[in-house]
Amino acid sequence: NVTVVGSLNTDFTVRVERLPRPGETLCVPDAVMSFGGKGANQAVQLARLGLPVTFVGAVGADDRGREYVDRLKLLGMEMHVARIDGAATGLGFVHCMPDGTVSSTVIAGANARVTAAMIDEALTEAPRPALILTQNEVPTDAVVAAGRWARRHQVLAVINAAPHVSNGDELLGLFDYFIVNEEEALGYAGRNRAPQDVAGWLGLAEGLRRIAPNVVITLGAQGAVYAGPGGVLVVPARRVDAVDTTGAGDSFVGALCGALATDETIEHALECAARAGAMTTLGVGAQESMPEAGQVFGAAAA
Ligand code: ADP
Repeated sequence: NVTVVGSLNTDFTVRVERLPRPGETLCVPDAVMSFGGKGANQAVQLARLGLPVTFVGAVGADDRGREYVDRLKLLGMEMHVARIDGAATGLGFVHCMPDGTVSSTVIAGANARVTAAMIDEALTEAPRPALILTQNEVPTDAVVAAGRWARRHQVLAVINAAPHVSNGDELLGLFDYFIVNEEEALGYAGRNRAPQDVAGWLGLAEGLRRIAPNVVITLGAQGAVYAGPGGVLVVPARRVDAVDTTGAGDSFVGALCGALATDETIEHALECAARAGAMTTLGVGAQESMPEAGQVFGAAAA
């Protein structure tokens, strides 16, 4: 089983032809409300793949939070979620362009109130996992607590260091796997300019191995690169007609962790992750379009 320490957000997605200019108001006929937050999205992908999941996080004392917790319980997750008085459940505002690319603003709300003490307590109460997964949508103290707990208990630890925050040094040596997208990779490497080609991204991934022994950089429709103790790998993306790329990264991370938690090789785990990421771009929203085990693992997926 896998324990996810992370965020829960309600997402509001608007489809637009372009982003509003400074001072401009764009009018759209409607918005789609969906369940999001990197932590919960990755947990849902793991549950869809049939893994037992424990979720650790926080919601506000509001209806959105209550509904979200009920929903994840219905998916079979063991929930260790604090209700924070005076905070709102996290919110995401997503602009989705015609080609499916998205830009978002996230209001952390209760996610920002997750503490190291809450993490230690929840991880101690919960069943011992095969793998702990976290992201940067909860405070660094909480992320570090999750990494340290995993180290102390010799549990495989994975961080999807998204979004980029300046916590590279605090994460040193705590995680086995460090997964980022292009923007985040540049942020952690302290670089402004993206490499021109895959070889450049592989070099960047090698450099980020100072933070964790295994590094994955996802490159959207270009696929992903990996650098680890056994060498480097290039993971091509599946060809699809993307509708909305929200959640592709979360699906990729969830599927990668699902495969690693069940002792798959890194090569196979990355293939499964790429398959899951591509499938999630085929529908609107993050969680609704995430694939199930038969579509990601096994012969049917080949
Ligand atoms: P994020 O959403 O975190 O920025 P990416 O956009 O890099 O993450 O996507 C994560 C993974 O999902 C990619 O490495 C790729 O395997 C898959 N993916 C994303 N977008 C597409 C796409 N348009 N076509 C095929 N695969 C995609």
